Amino acid sequence: MKYRTGLDFAQQLDAKDTLGEFRSQFYLPSDKDGKPLVYFCGNSLGLQPKSTKSYIQIELDDWAKLGVEGHTHGTNPWLHYHEFLTETMANIVGAKHHEVVVMNSLTVNLHLMMVSFYRPTKERYKILIEGDVFPSDKYAVESQLRHHGFDANEGLLFWSAPKGKELLNYDDLEEILHEHGREIALVMIGGVNYYTGQYFDLKRISDMAHKAGALVGFDCAHGAGNVDLNLHDSEADFAIWCSYKYLNSGPGSLSGCFVHERHANNPYLNRFAGWWSHNKTTRFNMRQPFEQLYGAEGWQLSNPPILSMAAIRASLDVFKAAGMNNLIDKSKKLTSYLEYLLSELNDERIKVITPKNPLERGCQLSIQLISTDKSLHQKLTNAGVISDWREPDVIRVAPVPLYNSFEDVHRMVDTLKNILHD
Ligand SMILES: *Cc1c(COP(=O)(O)O)cnc(C)c1O
Repeated sequence: MKYRTGLDFAQQLDAKDTLGEFRSQFYLPSDKDGKPLVYFCGNSLGLQPKSTKSYIQIELDDWAKLGVEGHTHGTNPWLHYHEFLTETMANIVGAKHHEVVVMNSLTVNLHLMMVSFYRPTKERYKILIEGDVFPSDKYAVESQLRHHGFDANEGLLFWSAPKGKELLNYDDLEEILHEHGREIALVMIGGVNYYTGQYFDLKRISDMAHKAGALVGFDCAHGAGNVDLNLHDSEADFAIWCSYKYLNSGPGSLSGCFVHERHANNPYLNRFAGWWSHNKTTRFNMRQPFEQLYGAEGWQLSNPPILSMAAIRASLDVFKAAGMNNLIDKSKKLTSYLEYLLSELNDERIKVITPKNPLERGCQLSIQLISTDKSLHQKLTNAGVISDWREPDVIRVAPVPLYNSFEDVHRMVDTLKNILHD
């Protein structure tokens, strides 16, 4: 598409946007004078759908009216509540229904997945992660290495960007696997890197890692609800993601977990268990010997927090109404438009480090600041543009197709331009 720089052009794009109406289904933050902010932090905490409150209220009312009976006689019987989320969540991440479950929080699920899919031996025990991995994931894998009696420094391998570059490339990965393949037990990569916004070719990584004899997991915290993950076809062994970023389910809300169907019924996999991993039909007989549930559900341990699940359900219903493919279409336009306006600034103090190829990124652009500092981010915030700062020198901006507009993008870049020219 041919873009133009004027505000009228942004407004024309908004007028033609078939998803434009969804913006009004969200609470948009405003400053203390009630002036709307430009919110570009949906990659960190997604905004609240206006419907969330009523979804939670139903469960609060059932709890008030029914007490324990809500488990079986509630409007949405709590015993089955996680099942109400499965279909839409599976569609969003491109998985079969029995490959997906919503449970726990992300880092907890990463550990549970490693209980099953990180089974080191003396020869094959290393874990390969991205050089610029999200800290929680790094701490998690280091602690798994120590848990199994290995040295956390020696046991970690990094797939890093070439010197002076920001993005990872597959030749380097190939080389690491060629050199160390026999020592690697697990390849654990962020599906979309949180810092650069680089979206990896999951299938390609899976194939390469499997060929080397390693298992593969993806942390899709920055992918779920943002890009077309196609987890089933990726052949990954497992994936995990949180629901409070692009999935708008509220601070600290539960995580999604994917286990490829080839592991659904594998009795030889090591797993941790609880009563929620046990056969649903005999769960409440209580004295039954343990019977593993089929599929991803079999990794659940506990009965889940319904109030948080209700918030997820509210959000997933919005996704279902909008359609993931429509969202991705709009996302590509919004982000290309942002990229265009930034390039039109023609200012060597800012550099977008996110891949230019729309297939290798989601909605986020990471703007590196060159010979200017963090105060620029503070000025953006003061001027009503909410983005985030990641050390050492990056501002991340995520125009989200569900609730951001082309005018938001225009306002953001216009604000940045004024700050740069100040
Ligand atoms: C957001 C994020 C997390 C957060 O983990 P929690 O367990 O939900 O606190 C972990 N990993 C990545 C890659 C993330 O982007």
